[in-house]
Amino acid sequence: MSNTYEIIIGLEVHAQLLTKSKMFCACSTEFGLTPNSNICPVCTGQPGALPVLNSGAVDHAIRTALALNCKINETSVFARKNYFYPDLPKGYQISQHEEPLAVKGYIELYDKQGVPKKIGITRVHMEEDAGKNIHSDKCSFVDLNRSGVPLVEIVSEPDMRSPQEAVSYFKKLRAILDCIGVCACNMEEGNLRCDANVSLRKFGADKFGTKVEIKNLNSFRFLEKALSYEVERQTQMLDSGEKIEQETRLFDAVSGITKSMRKKEEANDYRYFPEPDLTPLVIKKDKIKSTEQNMPELPDAKKKRLMSSYGLNEYDADVLSSDVLLASYYEKLVSIVKEPKLCSNWVQTDIMRVLNEQKISIQAFKIKVENMAELLLLVNKGSINQNTAKSVFSEMLSGGRSAKDIVSEKGLLQIQDQSQIEAIVDEVIASNTAQVEQYKQGKTNIAGYLVGLVMKQSKGKANPVIVNEILKKKLS
Ligand SMILES: [Zn+2]
Repeated sequence: MSNTYEIIIGLEVHAQLLTKSKMFCACSTEFGLTPNSNICPVCTGQPGALPVLNSGAVDHAIRTALALNCKINETSVFARKNYFYPDLPKGYQISQHEEPLAVKGYIELYDKQGVPKKIGITRVHMEEDAGKNIHSDKCSFVDLNRSGVPLVEIVSEPDMRSPQEAVSYFKKLRAILDCIGVCACNMEEGNLRCDANVSLRKFGADKFGTKVEIKNLNSFRFLEKALSYEVERQTQMLDSGEKIEQETRLFDAVSGITKSMRKKEEANDYRYFPEPDLTPLVIKKDKIKSTEQNMPELPDAKKKRLMSSYGLNEYDADVLSSDVLLASYYEKLVSIVKEPKLCSNWVQTDIMRVLNEQKISIQAFKIKVENMAELLLLVNKGSINQNTAKSVFSEMLSGGRSAKDIVSEKGLLQIQDQSQIEAIVDEVIASNTAQVEQYKQGKTNIAGYLVGLVMKQSKGKANPVIVNEILKKKLS
């Protein structure tokens, strides 16, 4: 990347609100049903059908705005955004335009040194989703199941300065939405997706360059790749004296490049006007106050608490606090095992590896927290060592049996008995005289080799701490 230009990025994130029914009708929001089975006159835009606002969606939108430190407007107004597309049977989308639900919020990001940076949130508004076009070789189909599903759109200020920072922002936003329970945040099902605006300007310039919008990025990886590609493309154009055109581009995940989709439309192309079938949305102060009082602990607060209560480092606390259920699994584990660091290591390495491999959340993780605690207690008491624990862990994953059962069936209990270990150490010393001699001449790192031999002879069951102690004593 060039050092001539400063990268300017802003994101518009669409999050599907987690409600049972759609935004303006009673149709279900369930994903993956037979096409056009969740539809009615309202969400298919039949003449004379009138929208009725889903108050559950409004509650979720208020929670979202509060969690993003926004100011909620007492009165906001639904507006028609007019455009034609086959998946939009009404010919307009009900959104909010001039008077959105909430404005002027922020999200705080931390860099590697833990220095905070605020990314501004311009606005949070409510809108309905459109249907979906499905294309085959010969013709196209329209599925209106998604038509009318409630969304919030979260628009950031152009405050991000690198693709990586944009990804951190999007991840943090997802953690917050997940934490307050307003969105399923399943990016593969498309209920959290983002459009990115990116432009370049010479360092020191005060005016922004012409921005390009990249549509519909539904994974963190795609967001980063699309932005990096776009930064490179714009840099080359500017370097060779070309002008950037304001346009909308699509990211092609297969080739990893962005392609022009259409020249960018202006807001007034949509002929916005207030929705005549809905009254303005009025949110009373009491409502805001009671919502505030019922907010859960947000990721930043959780992170701070994990650091202070359990002595976790910044990185570990960050990973845990970005997933509410994972954090709660961890805290339950600690409450039984009483060893915060040991539990954190296991959650962040072994458990998270399994979650990533199986692409599941902690909810679907096979080992219940009580059973996991039993395993870690065995480690902590010295009944089994870490290596044995790892193999018991895999066994628990596949068989569903308890740690204690596996350990006793397979005779894996760690050898703690001094005299038993001493006997093995003596044997090893006796049959490795050359190495022992080297050790005595100052090559002390040979001790590790001898410990390894003792462990091998004990079939991995000797307590390595005791092995070390005895061996050192005998050699000195
Ligand atoms: Zn409907």
